[in-house]
Amino acid sequence: MSNLRYKKILLLGILLILLITLLLINFVFTDNNIFKNNKIIISSQNVIDNFSDIIDRNVSDSEFDVINPTDESISLLFFGDLMLDRHVGEKIDKYGLDYLLEKLNKENFTSSYDVVLANLEGAVAKDGAHYLPHSLYDFSFSPNLISSLKKYNFNFFNLANNHLSDQGQKGIEETYQNLSDLGFYYFGCRDAFLSPSEELLELKMGDNQPVLSEENCSDIVVDIKNKKIAFLGFSMVYKNIDENRVIERIKSLKEKSDLLIVNVHFGIEYQELASQNQVNLARKMVDNGADIIIGHHPHVIQNYEIYQQKPIFYSLGNFIFDQYFSPETQEGLAVSLTVSKDKEIVSQVYKIKTKGSRIDEILKMP
Ligand SMILES: [Zn+2]
Repeated sequence: MSNLRYKKILLLGILLILLITLLLINFVFTDNNIFKNNKIIISSQNVIDNFSDIIDRNVSDSEFDVINPTDESISLLFFGDLMLDRHVGEKIDKYGLDYLLEKLNKENFTSSYDVVLANLEGAVAKDGAHYLPHSLYDFSFSPNLISSLKKYNFNFFNLANNHLSDQGQKGIEETYQNLSDLGFYYFGCRDAFLSPSEELLELKMGDNQPVLSEENCSDIVVDIKNKKIAFLGFSMVYKNIDENRVIERIKSLKEKSDLLIVNVHFGIEYQELASQNQVNLARKMVDNGADIIIGHHPHVIQNYEIYQQKPIFYSLGNFIFDQYFSPETQEGLAVSLTVSKDKEIVSQVYKIKTKGSRIDEILKMP
C-alpha cells in the first residue's frame, strides 16, 4: 500500500469515528435532560427509576382529585414565579385577575389542598406603589390584588427572591405587614440574606401570622393536622449565602419540626438543566434534614429528581409572568405532594401553560 493511500484511509477512518461520536453525543443529549412532548426525562437512570416508581403509585383515574382532604395526610401544592405587575398588571387592569386564573377554579385544581404556595416575585406595597429609586425591574402589587388570590386558594407565599426588595426596605416592611393583615402565611427575606434569629416562629394553621422582620424572616413553622411543618426560604441570586449557615439552619429546623420544606431561589436564568452548584447544595440540604426542595428563579422548568427518597425540584419555572418571548418562559410546573402520617411523600407533577399570562392548559405529567 502506498504511503499516500494509507494516509487517505487513515484520515477517512478518523473522520468516520468522529462522525459516529458526534451522532452518539447528539443522541445522548437529546434523549436526556430535555423536556420533550411534555415529559420530563431526568439524566441519571437511577433517578428515573425512583421517580417513575413514585409517580406510578399516584396514578388516578380522575384528572385532579388525587387528594383526599379528610385523611390525616397533608397535601401541598407548589407553584413557581408569580408576578402581577408590568404587562401582567396591564392585563389585570383591562380584563381582571379572573381572566388570567379562571382555569384553576374551573378545573378545581387548587381546591382541597392544605397548602397552596407560590413564589411571590415582588413587594406587596401600599396601593401597589413604586417607591424611589426606580429600578429596571420594579415589581409591586397592591394588597387588594393579592387578597383576591384567596379565591384561588393560595394561602402561603415564599418571599425569598431578588424582587422582594424592589420597593426598598419600606417595601419589604409593608409586604410583611400587608400579608399578615390579609391572613396569609409567608416567609423569606431579601436576596442573599438569612435572618439571624434562633427563635422559631411557631404557628397553628388558622392563627394569624405575626408580622415578620429582618430578625426572623427566613423561616416559620406551622402546625398543620398536628404535624409541625417548617418552611425555610432563601435567595442566592446576586450573592451567595454562606452554605454552612444554611446547613446549620436546616439542622436546627429539623430538630424542631416533623417536615422541612425548603424554598430556594437560585440557578441560572433560562437554563433547563440545573447547574452543578444547585445540585450540590440541594443534595447537601437533603443530607442534613430537608424533606422537600422547591427551587425557582431560572424562569424555565428545570429537571427534578428523587434523592434519598426526597424530591428536589430545581426550578418550577414561571407560573404567571410576562416573558412572552419563548414557549419555555410561558410554562411552569405545579407540584402536588401528599405527605402521609408516616412521612411517605407521594408526588404528582403538572405542567401549566400560559398564553399572554393567562392559564391556557393544565397538563398532568405521566
Ligand atoms: Zn428571581
